[in-house]
Amino acid sequence: MVSFAFTDEHEEFRKTLTSFSDRVLLPGYRDRAASTNFPFDILKRLGDLGLLGIGLPEEYGGTGTEDPVLLGIATETLAYGDVNMASAPVQIGLVASQLALCRDEIQERYLPPLINGEQTIAIALTEPGSGSDASALTTTATAVEGGWRLNGEKTAISWAMNATAALVYAREPGSSRARGVSCFVVPLDADGVSVSHMPGMGCLPLGWGSIHLSDVFIPESHLVGELGKGFHSVMDHFDFSRAALGLMCLGAAKQSLEEAAAYAQQRETFGQPLSEHQGLAFQFAEHATYLEGARWICYRALWLRETAQPHTALASMSKWWPPVVAKNAIEFAMRVHGNLGYSTESPLQQRYRDVTAYLVADGTAEIQKRIIAKDIFARGTVSL
Ligand SMILES: Cc1cc2nc3c(=O)[nH]c(=O)nc-3n(C[C@H](O)[C@H](O)[C@H](O)COP(=O)(O)OP(=O)(O)OC[C@H]3O[C@@H](n4cnc5c(N)ncnc54)[C@H](O)[C@@H]3O)c2cc1C
Repeated sequence: MVSFAFTDEHEEFRKTLTSFSDRVLLPGYRDRAASTNFPFDILKRLGDLGLLGIGLPEEYGGTGTEDPVLLGIATETLAYGDVNMASAPVQIGLVASQLALCRDEIQERYLPPLINGEQTIAIALTEPGSGSDASALTTTATAVEGGWRLNGEKTAISWAMNATAALVYAREPGSSRARGVSCFVVPLDADGVSVSHMPGMGCLPLGWGSIHLSDVFIPESHLVGELGKGFHSVMDHFDFSRAALGLMCLGAAKQSLEEAAAYAQQRETFGQPLSEHQGLAFQFAEHATYLEGARWICYRALWLRETAQPHTALASMSKWWPPVVAKNAIEFAMRVHGNLGYSTESPLQQRYRDVTAYLVADGTAEIQKRIIAKDIFARGTVSL
């Protein structure tokens, strides 16, 4: 029989995190989100709660086996309080699962501070000339004695301004497309590395920026996984980060709709609460329906991952539709608040800015639709 029930453990985890989100994250969210300072104090608290080690190696402080559904619950629930900090378990999961392919000395150096919430590491794939078409990247890694020399520029990189190191994707000179692309751990204080800030309309504390690489020497020990196989490895991990990011956007939208529902019950116009005006009440019903539908797409993608079943198309569905559903719900919540929703004092406009990032970050809707369409035509069915 089909079951949509979470386990008792999941429910307990959600309850604890909801309380943490309400008490610790929500009160300071707007101020933190309007600043470019990365809140390492909050990251440390996430680390102390074990949220940054979900599915990561136990010997470095993680929970061990991959646990996609738990990761989804964490990101969804943290986003009620702070959608920016909710992205930390996803980013760290993506980074650490690649670092786990490195030599022991690199894992020992980077994994414990990452899982404890003491350091951050960026993922540097996008370049000025290649984003959606990621395998068109031009940063080069030229083999030299004892390692490689890296040259190129990475752009639009989250955490560039606060990270200790970045996972940089670079190609063997003369290679093309995904072939010849390797991943390297690049300490951001290495000679020849410079970073510059790129202010965005949201996600400010995440330290969005560019990373410039000029003849940067990277020793052999800093290769991630196999030489020439870096591109496929990151794409596999995107399959589950996408569903977790979808849930994160939906968590921020749920909080916004609930704030709007509370407001609509106390604000009166034309002699009655806003909630009594059917034109508005029906819109609450519609957004709640979209949120519920989008949420189950994400959890199903994570469950398929957990049970080792094909999930690439569903992960792409979780990345294109839920952020749109979330953005629309937050915009509605802003409108319910009238002029107050538009004020910079309001967390709603801030969530709108922060969630909008995920219409682009980690792959746009068009790129997700390419993946879904390819799957439909390959299998000759739209059923999953
Ligand atoms: C907030 C934020 C955080 C980010 N963080 C990171 C990060 O940490 N690391 C990292 O490496 N990158 C990061 N990125 C970059 C992000 O992954 C890219 O911006 C994204 O993949 C799109 O690439 P692009 O910006 O070059 O747009 P382009 O690839 O130039 O696309 C431009 C437009 O054309 C559309 N398009 C492109 N090709 C097609 C097609 N074949 N069919 C139909 N439409 C198409 C796109 O959907 C888009 O609307 C981040 C971006 C944002 C906004």
